[in-house]
Amino acid sequence: TSTVEGFAEPIKLSSNESPHGPSPLAIAAYHETAARLFRYPDGRQTALRKAIADVHGLDSAQIVCGNGSEELQLLLVRAFVSPGDEVICSEFSFVMGRIHAEAQGATIVTAPEPKFRADADSILARITPKTRMIMLASPNNPVGDYMRRDDLARLVAATPKDVIIIYDGAYADYVDAPDYGDGLTLWKQAPNVVVTRTFSKLYGLAGLRIGWMCADKSVVDAVERIRTPFNTSIAALAAAEAAVRDVSYAVSVKAHNARWLAKLTATLRGLDYDVFPSVANFYLLRFDAEGEFTAERAADFLMKRGIIPRPVSAGGPAGCLRITVGLDHENEAVIEALKEFSAGRARKQAG
Ligand SMILES: *Cc1c(COP(=O)(O)O)cnc(C)c1O
Repeated sequence: TSTVEGFAEPIKLSSNESPHGPSPLAIAAYHETAARLFRYPDGRQTALRKAIADVHGLDSAQIVCGNGSEELQLLLVRAFVSPGDEVICSEFSFVMGRIHAEAQGATIVTAPEPKFRADADSILARITPKTRMIMLASPNNPVGDYMRRDDLARLVAATPKDVIIIYDGAYADYVDAPDYGDGLTLWKQAPNVVVTRTFSKLYGLAGLRIGWMCADKSVVDAVERIRTPFNTSIAALAAAEAAVRDVSYAVSVKAHNARWLAKLTATLRGLDYDVFPSVANFYLLRFDAEGEFTAERAADFLMKRGIIPRPVSAGGPAGCLRITVGLDHENEAVIEALKEFSAGRARKQAG
């Protein structure tokens, strides 16, 4: 949903888009491409790969850019998975990766996340001789929690090297936790680890479709063999390059998110809401399984106030709403609305 009847500008907090939009420098770079649109894009993605490598301290030969990280996950599946192979998907991993693996004819094996985050033991217990790929997201979605670095190291060490591990870091840009590992240099010790990243979240470029992956040269080569040269547009390459180089803008977006995530979590817990721990740009609230205070009723209540949350569908924890961290006034509106909603609950319990 992106519209609410009666609201010209609803508060859309359902897709984890950045409420700040992209860096002004990225917008300028995007406009600047208008005069060059008759040209094909740089099929080698040289400037963007170099910018990503500069900012993250990587080697640009380790990077491939895609039409969203989704496309890179598709290419990885096509490069490494055959019909009948098993692909282990951690419970709250990216749904698109799972869809691509299914389409390739793989058997999907779901590894539950008993602590609501990717779990090494849960995944390792499901590896068989047929396993060809493991997909996990950290922070995950819709919960927002992350695999601890030592758990990730244990998973990587114990996974056979012919099993590709896709470590989806779509929300890594938001994370400050000291025991989080972005995995970007894991390929040095384990050439089967691929990290996918995106410009759709913190960098505010979801509509342009641009993401990247970082991996060992052998994996990069396998993807490059099947990547179409013009998978990323001139506009996406230019805007993403400017966005990743505008570090101060990214830092301010990240700081806003951290400040509000802490405030929203504390305030809503103070109002007796069950808020899952999150380090991403969204938070997950659990409601009653039945009665007046279900997720469905809460969603209706918010929608009547012009606020659009994301009801968690099958596959996520039951009875939950996921809400993106928004701008100041948007977060304040959520708090006000949920205060009213829970006041009804307190009255009900008292009566
Ligand atoms: C939003 C999101 C992505 C981003 O996908 P793109 O194709 O890069 O837009 C990837 N993984 C997860 C878990 C996400 O929530």
